[in-house]
Amino acid sequence: MNIPLLIAQSKYHFWPRDRSYMRQVLKRYSTYYRNLDEPAKRVFEYRVEIFLNAIEFKTLGAIRLKSEIEFLIASGFVQITFGRNLYILSHFKRIIITPKEYGYTGFKEKLLGHVDYSRRLITLSWANTKHGFLIEDDAHNVVLHEMAHALEFEFRKRIKLVKHLDRRSLPLAILISSIVEKSYYFLDNEVYQKWLKLGVTQLKDIRNGKQAFLKSYAAKNIHEYFACSIEAFFEQSEQMKVEMPELFDTLVLLLGQDPTVKKDPRIKT
Ligand SMILES: [Zn+2]
Repeated sequence: MNIPLLIAQSKYHFWPRDRSYMRQVLKRYSTYYRNLDEPAKRVFEYRVEIFLNAIEFKTLGAIRLKSEIEFLIASGFVQITFGRNLYILSHFKRIIITPKEYGYTGFKEKLLGHVDYSRRLITLSWANTKHGFLIEDDAHNVVLHEMAHALEFEFRKRIKLVKHLDRRSLPLAILISSIVEKSYYFLDNEVYQKWLKLGVTQLKDIRNGKQAFLKSYAAKNIHEYFACSIEAFFEQSEQMKVEMPELFDTLVLLLGQDPTVKKDPRIKT
């Protein structure tokens, strides 16, 4: 049994979900899941269960927590991580669901979702979550967006941890690295650095008006660039392949999947 699964099971009681209802929900909302072949669908469902047993859901405002909400939000996380080894969020402990977009201190406009790094929370509006999945080709999906932020943050945090340990205790660093390499690294650092270099260049292109494929919000900073790239990678895969082939190919390597291969996007190694 691998370590993330062990942690998930020790921390939260594992209980099997209603698979047939999960399938109904995923078929209804998730184009990505609907297109998978049967064996890939089974793996996807298993990963949804694993995710749900490792994170706590809470609601805020006039909304009651339902399995439908949990399944759909988990599916966004599983979609991004599907081509990589099983991964569970460790920094983020809780997902807060609001009925619709909400006001938040420091922001003029209402938010569809956000990630709170210091309080270890991900907040998502349920109305916008559903909308993001039902409109499948506009590169707007708040779950994919916020999960991309969460995953990138955890990855960068671990890179820092290993570097920090390396300076103080080499044997410990080797031990931690070996655990991290096998079980915790969601992304390959070499490919991530390649993506980062490309992202910094392309971010300038958006700001200079040389690139208009990604939504303009991507120009805000490199982290928004990452999150918006992930949304477009899944929702406008074919177009990205043509308009931004280098970005597309780098994301295929980074996420271990090619979403234009719909029956099973996972890259076989
Ligand atoms: Zn963002």
